[in-house]
Amino acid sequence: MKTFGYAAQSTTSPLAPFTFERRALRANDVAMDILYCGVCHSDLHTARNDWGWTTYPVVPGHEIVGRVTQVGPDVTRYKVGDHVAVGCMVDSCMHCDQCRKGEEQLCREGMTGTYSGVDRITKEPTHGGYSKHLVVREEFVLRVPDALDLSRVAPLLCAGITTYSPLRTWNVGPGSRVAVIGLGGLGHMAVKLAAGLGADVTVISRSPDKKADALSLGADHLLLSTDDKAMAGAASHFDLIIDTVPVKHDLNAYLPLLDVDGTLVIVGQVGPMAEYNTVPLLLGRRRVAGSPIGGIRETQEMLDFCAKKNILPECEMIRMDEINGAYDRMERSDVRYRFVIDMASLDTPKA
Ligand code: NAP
Ligand code: ZN
Repeated sequence: MKTFGYAAQSTTSPLAPFTFERRALRANDVAMDILYCGVCHSDLHTARNDWGWTTYPVVPGHEIVGRVTQVGPDVTRYKVGDHVAVGCMVDSCMHCDQCRKGEEQLCREGMTGTYSGVDRITKEPTHGGYSKHLVVREEFVLRVPDALDLSRVAPLLCAGITTYSPLRTWNVGPGSRVAVIGLGGLGHMAVKLAAGLGADVTVISRSPDKKADALSLGADHLLLSTDDKAMAGAASHFDLIIDTVPVKHDLNAYLPLLDVDGTLVIVGQVGPMAEYNTVPLLLGRRRVAGSPIGGIRETQEMLDFCAKKNILPECEMIRMDEINGAYDRMERSDVRYRFVIDMASLDTPKA
């Protein structure tokens, strides 16, 4: 089926209209019209090939909300008209130990990315949500709870699950002391979700002007990373630090902030990290860990949790043709706090 969207053709080309083929519906597939797509910093990293694994042309977008238009004969969970969502992966082997546990993001054979991936059957490139239509196997489709405002759900599919998963892995609940480094797309969801789980939440930011926002998002404190005195005063304060900084950075300032047995979990920077001193790790039995998105079961749990607690991202709605300007603003950390593309703004290309 022919569809259209926006793609990057090379590391330096801006995103531009692109017509391409979506694979034919298989027996276990769900086809959807895309209504909204969030703009993740990973889309920008991928469009520019920051990680070295982009295949061009790439249609980014892995925070996808849509309406079902067609289902294959074996699909049992969804019907035409349902509101559904798709996140960062569209397939995995489904038989390894991790997939059987519902941790498809950790599939031993590697999960299939929503974009810049390769379809496991036809070997066609996968293309993401900056487009009109999508076809995905049923097991990788999420149900959008009715209680959630559809226009604000999309960022939950990556920013939401990527921060919810470590909060659950490290058993955050009432009494936990959680810090979040970087108040952007992931960071603001980490704040809302940690607060929703009952934690005491601190934002660690370079931006003093984000203090009022941090508090209104549910944080209890804002710690300025540029204020050496305040940073020293926060030593041994946190059980879990979620680090969303998107570029290589210095962990030395953050590790002493962990309490004994505390964990700093990196969800932001992908690639080599600046050198850091192991003394605070050894002496405080502290840990540095990493975490990729979350499994499908946990993603549905997160959506249902957000519906129950009325947790939604702060979204700035943009038109599809505003995407390049949105990327420039994201690079300057000028996002409050997630861009969402209204896909109704993507016009049919002129023949
Ligand atoms: P974002 O909206 O741009 O937010 C990043 C925030 O980090 C900024 O708002 C800023 O907050 C802070 N920051 C930016 N540059 C910094 C620097 N040089 N030093 C210190 N802090 C800096 O990005 P995002 O969409 O949240 O994504 C964050 C990262 O997570 C990206 O690298 C993305 O690829 C990655 N990611 C990983 C996963 C995963 O599965 N682990 C999933 C999704 C995204 P302040 O102004 O408050 O300092
Ligand atoms: Zn993402």
